[in-house]
Amino acid sequence: MQSLDPRSLIAMGVLMALVMAIVLGFTRRYYPPNIQGVGHWAMAATALFLGGIFFGFSAPAWPHAWRWVGNGTLVLGFLLFHVGFRRFLHRPVPWRLMVVLYGISLLLIAWYEWMDPSYRMRVALITAIISVVHVASLGVLWRQGSQRLPVRMVQATLVLHLCVLLIRMFTVLSEPRAGSMWNASSIQTLYIGGYVVASLLLSVGVLLMATDRVRTELEHMATHDALTAAFNRRAILDFCAQEHMRSVRYGEPFSLMMLDLDHFKLVNDTYGHQHGDNVLVHFADCVRAALRSCDRFGRYGGEEFLVLLPNTTREAALTVAQRIHAALSAGHPLDCQVSIGVASWCGPNDSLHAMLSRADVALYQAKSQGRNQTCAG
Ligand code: GH3
Ligand code: MG
Ligand code: MG
Repeated sequence: MQSLDPRSLIAMGVLMALVMAIVLGFTRRYYPPNIQGVGHWAMAATALFLGGIFFGFSAPAWPHAWRWVGNGTLVLGFLLFHVGFRRFLHRPVPWRLMVVLYGISLLLIAWYEWMDPSYRMRVALITAIISVVHVASLGVLWRQGSQRLPVRMVQATLVLHLCVLLIRMFTVLSEPRAGSMWNASSIQTLYIGGYVVASLLLSVGVLLMATDRVRTELEHMATHDALTAAFNRRAILDFCAQEHMRSVRYGEPFSLMMLDLDHFKLVNDTYGHQHGDNVLVHFADCVRAALRSCDRFGRYGGEEFLVLLPNTTREAALTVAQRIHAALSAGHPLDCQVSIGVASWCGPNDSLHAMLSRADVALYQAKSQGRNQTCAG
C-alpha cells in the first residue's frame, strides 16, 4: 500500500469532521425534535474535529497534555456516537457507567503519557477502548433489528473500523521497537486513514438514519389516520385499486367491507366527543385484531371505515364480519355496535367503483334491517 503522510491524513480528517459537525448541527436544528440523538452525533463529529486538531497541530510547549487531550477527545467522539445511537433508538443511556469508564480510560491514557510513557501501550489502549465502544454500538444497532440501508451502512462502517483497530492493536504490540505517530508506514496509514474514513462514513450514515426516520414518519402521517392509526381514505382506496388490478390480471377474488358505527351521534351526545374518540380507537383495535395481516383497514370518513380483504370470497368475508361483531360485544366498556356492508369482486367487468357502491347499498340495507348486522351486496 502506498504510505501517506499522517499529517496530511489528519488534516483531511479534521476538515471532513468539521463539515460533518456543521451539517449535523443544522440537521439537529431543522429536523423535528422527536428525532433524538442527532445533537449527540453533531457533538461526536465536533469532538473528532477537535481530536484531529490536537493530534495534527501539536503545541511544542505541552506535547503530553496536548496529546492526552487529543486521545481523550477521540474516545469521546466515538462514545458520543454511541450515545446518539441509544437516544435515536429510544434506549436508556447508562450515563453513570459511561462517565466512570470514560474517567478510567482517561486515567489509563494519562498513565502511559506521563508515568510510563509508551506510544505502543497508548495505541493498544486507545484501540481497545474504541473497539469496546464500537462493539457496544453494534450491539445496540443489532438489537433494534432494522434492515434499513442507513443502519446497515453504519454497522458495516463499525465492523470495518473494528477490524482496522484490532489489526493495529496486534501489530503495535508485536512490533520490536516503539514506533511513533508520525511513521509513514503502511500500517500507520491504514490506522489513521481508518479514523478519517470511519468518522466520515459514520457521520454520513447517521445523517441518512435521521433522514430515513423523518421520511418514514412523514410517510406514515400522509397515509394514516391520526386518531385510529388506520389507513386514511386515500391510502385505503389506493390499496383497493391495486388489489382490483391484481384480480383483473390473475382472476383472484377479493372482497370489500364498508363499516359504519351504529347511533354514534348518540354516543357523542350522551357521553361527549372525548368518549366518542375513545370508542373509535377501541373499535379500530377490535377490527384490526379480527383481521389477517394481509388485510387492510382504513378510515373512509367520520365513523365510516373500509376493509380490504385480498383473496377472499363473499362467504369468507361474511365470516370475518361475524368475527368483528363478536369482538365488539366482548363486554369492554367501550364496545359499540356496527353495521357492515360486504361486496365481492364479480369478475373482470366489475369495477372498483361498482364494488364500493354495492358495499354502500349493503351497508344501508344492514342499517334499515335493524343495525348491528352484516349484509352482502
Ligand atoms: P347511524 O347508526 O345511522 O349510522 O347513526 P349515526 O349517529 O352513527 O350516524 P350520523 O351520521 O348521524 O352521525 C355520525 C356521527 O359521528 C356524527 C359525528 O359527529 C361523529 N363523528 C365523526 N367523526 C368523529 C370523530 O372523529 N370523533 C368523534 N367523537 N365523533 C365523530
Ligand atoms: Mg353511524
Ligand atoms: Mg356514517
